[in-house]
Amino acid sequence: MAMRKAKLAVWKFASCDGCQLSLLDCEDELLAVAGAVDMAHFPEATSAQVKGPYDLSLVEGSITTPHDAARIHQVRRASQTLITIGACATAGGIQALRNFRNVREFLGIVYAHPEYIETLSLSTPISTHVLVDFELRGCPINKHQLLDVIAAFLHKRKPVTPAHSVCLECKRRGSVCVMVAHGLPCLGPVTHAGCGAICPAYQRGCYACFGPMESPNAPALADWLMSHGAGDSAIVRAFRTYNAYTESFRKESEAHER
Ligand code: SF4
Ligand code: SF4
Repeated sequence: MAMRKAKLAVWKFASCDGCQLSLLDCEDELLAVAGAVDMAHFPEATSAQVKGPYDLSLVEGSITTPHDAARIHQVRRASQTLITIGACATAGGIQALRNFRNVREFLGIVYAHPEYIETLSLSTPISTHVLVDFELRGCPINKHQLLDVIAAFLHKRKPVTPAHSVCLECKRRGSVCVMVAHGLPCLGPVTHAGCGAICPAYQRGCYACFGPMESPNAPALADWLMSHGAGDSAIVRAFRTYNAYTESFRKESEAHER
């Protein structure tokens, strides 16, 4: 008797769709993925939809509206396993920059009729609202890591995604350290691995699109940046990018905000 394929659903909340595109970007591997699972709900890829419940839900995007704050609970109820993908879903995303200001002021500046906009004052990760089984970092995520996460789900094992920093990936590929050799500001020492340390390989500092590594020492890095000429505002900007509302980056940016 043929085995029932796992039902896969992909959900979008506040996001740019880049992480969902990483799945479509799998090209060579996509047919194998499609052969291993039933794409039951994936509006970015197909208008065909199969009703839940779903075995695996991949969730992209952060929660920014009252409507989405209710919808994520429906998604959780319909999903046996729920995995968040990308900086928006795991950390609130670049839209979490609103969390440092009064969002009502932005509405008044941007929209002619802000009274029609229903929004929350914070952009929050999915794990703030519901139980999440695994978080995959990156803006966007790395497609090889995504494939491993799906394979891990299918084979009932833990995903193999390293918790160490971009620095270790630099050493592995034999890149010269841009901080030590060239004095360039780089967030690699506090950033989660996953990209293969692309930027330092091309003599550019890392700007932390994969978010904080496990136990990052952000204050020590900020001290190094200051000793190499960075001011408080540069440090605030460095930590306030795609993962600004993660605890370590938020605290460090707030410590330099005067
Ligand atoms: S994490 Fe980055 S690439 Fe992914 S949806 Fe958010 S903004 Fe787009
Ligand atoms: S900014 Fe950092 S984490 Fe992002 S691709 Fe470059 S080296 Fe990797």
